[in-house]
Amino acid sequence: MTESTTNLAAFDAARRVMPGGVNSPVRAFGSVGGTPRSLVSASGPYLRDVEGREYVDLVCSWGPMLLGHQHPAVLDAVHAAVDRGLSFGASTPDETRLAELIRSIVPVERVRFVSTGTEATMTALRLARGATGRNLIVKFAGCYHGHSDGLLASAGSGLATQALPGSAGVTEAQAAETLVVPYNDEAALREVFAVHGENIAAVITEAVPANMGVVVPNDGFNQFLRTLTAKHGALLIWDEVLTGFRATATGGWGLSGEPEGWAPDLWTFGKVVGGGMPVAAVAGSAEVMDLLAPLGPVYQAGTLSGNPVAMAAGLATLGEATSNPEVYATLSQRSEQLQQLLSEALTGAGVDHSIQTAGTLFSFAFGTSATGVHDYAQAQSQEAFRYGPFFQTMLDHGVYLPPSVFEAWFVSSAHDDAAMERIAAALPHAARAAAAATA
Ligand SMILES: *Cc1c(COP(=O)(O)O)cnc(C)c1O
Repeated sequence: MTESTTNLAAFDAARRVMPGGVNSPVRAFGSVGGTPRSLVSASGPYLRDVEGREYVDLVCSWGPMLLGHQHPAVLDAVHAAVDRGLSFGASTPDETRLAELIRSIVPVERVRFVSTGTEATMTALRLARGATGRNLIVKFAGCYHGHSDGLLASAGSGLATQALPGSAGVTEAQAAETLVVPYNDEAALREVFAVHGENIAAVITEAVPANMGVVVPNDGFNQFLRTLTAKHGALLIWDEVLTGFRATATGGWGLSGEPEGWAPDLWTFGKVVGGGMPVAAVAGSAEVMDLLAPLGPVYQAGTLSGNPVAMAAGLATLGEATSNPEVYATLSQRSEQLQQLLSEALTGAGVDHSIQTAGTLFSFAFGTSATGVHDYAQAQSQEAFRYGPFFQTMLDHGVYLPPSVFEAWFVSSAHDDAAMERIAAALPHAARAAAAATA
């Protein structure tokens, strides 16, 4: 490649060789406008682009960078793993160690590692169908579970950002096997089970929805899902790809299942579990998980699954998160501080908004103070046009936010006072830009 010295030149070069210039749609800045930043390095809470400009990072790779960038323990572990070899296509001790560590945090018996969250949820669906002999899956509007065919209906995340109802290329047959219900709607679920109960293999839900912005489950909603699925012989698939090891030390489960004393049947993890490397996992009871090949009839495989360098990054990240109490304490503190700064700035500029919070996760929505956001319809009805100017102003002032209003803001334990001061200085400008925005 030719050396690009500006973000625009880098994006132009990228557009000539990759669709939209990106390898994941939201990176193209479609809904916020402007030129995507071409990033070259990151350290602690900061990112640096090809122009040498530095940004406080509030994306954290969409969650994985729990400890910030270049955490010394993670880098040491990765460097040591690289020196031992990049990939063996066979089992390694670190896979067992990471599975043991996950088992020490959440109540699962078996773990299968894959490389992406999409693979994890796809495998969970196949397992649920294999275990029950049923076809139908229930998902919630606005919940994102990766880009596999059956899960793209009303999927939030990049589809919400680009206002797409679903995806071309998904067959009607596949779409017909996914029943979509509004989030937080117990009556709709009861009805779906009353009609289709005998054919429902599983309900899949985000432990806390965070791909239509954060939406807080109503009190008792998750417990209701647990009871309803069990009653009808369906499995509860608990997608913690985003929330796992981040919303709390025990993920989204720490906000409902753990205090209420119940557990789902299948879990999916991703993002933090790989510490910035391509790692995800499906996990659950031995009874269900041992249906996977080679023990059982449900097939799943991966050339690079359990990759040794990726396992080293995940082990070091979760190792630090579980052994150093400062990690989650700092995440909580920075998250609260950020919400307070955001709210003050928006209120100061007269911008109507609400903030949704679940553990260390939060997001905000414009023009929703009267109702808050409890489902996808409410998320989509917000004054999203205010976000582009807000986002661009933050970027101009050296703060890198998610390039979509439908995403949580991600902090890390490396976000320090200096980083917070830069955010605090930028927010009032961005709030004024949001106030001045017109639809
Ligand atoms: C990110 C995400 C996925 C998909 O993970 P990928 O690694 O991007 O395939 C699945 N479920 C949830 C809840 C996610 O946030």
